[in-house]
Amino acid sequence: MYVLVVEDERRLAQLIRRVLEEEGHTVDLAYDGEEGLAMGMESSHDVIVLDILLPGINGIEVCQALRKNRVDTPILLLTALDDVQDRVRGLDAGADDYLGKPFAFQELLARMRALSRRRVQAREPDRLQSADLVLDLNRRRAERAGRLIELSPKEFALLEFLMRNEGRVITRTQILDHLWGYDHTPDSNLVDVYVSYLRRKVDKGHADKLIGTIRGVGYFLGR
Ligand code: CA
Repeated sequence: MYVLVVEDERRLAQLIRRVLEEEGHTVDLAYDGEEGLAMGMESSHDVIVLDILLPGINGIEVCQALRKNRVDTPILLLTALDDVQDRVRGLDAGADDYLGKPFAFQELLARMRALSRRRVQAREPDRLQSADLVLDLNRRRAERAGRLIELSPKEFALLEFLMRNEGRVITRTQILDHLWGYDHTPDSNLVDVYVSYLRRKVDKGHADKLIGTIRGVGYFLGR
């Protein structure tokens, strides 16, 4: 996980960083609210651990500002143990969870894991659907009109990419980059080959063709 820790008690901040790094996480540290807000705004972290009592803008204000700016990184607030008011204000401000100080590092780690899991689940739909075509992302299964379609992993990845971009034209280069990475030969006809495989499996025998071609540009999925 990529974690931002905002905590003005330097020794505690560094201890948290050490524990997290020992667990294999990458950690950014901020020692006050302003710095924390600026770093949190990059919104590339998986979790933000945010102390409430900070010099300058406090943790609750940081939290509000992040949410106002549409940063949806999960936030775990660190609060004084007995401060119910702060916890309520923190949750109202858009924090996801809180942990009272002093805390056990095991609990901090467990709560961070729970937050990042919740986020993955919230962001990732477990199925994609277009007309009667359904892609079950958990079970890696594709069905059309209730009938199972056997797909190779690459075909599945291509179909998933097209379905995630339903209705949008995807160029050959975008497909190449997405499925094969950047070290492909630019004039490769891989994409056309795989799209033709996919067509045979997805559209053949159906009156409604779901995979469309924009000649010279790329492909799209949808009607
Ligand atoms: Ca503090």
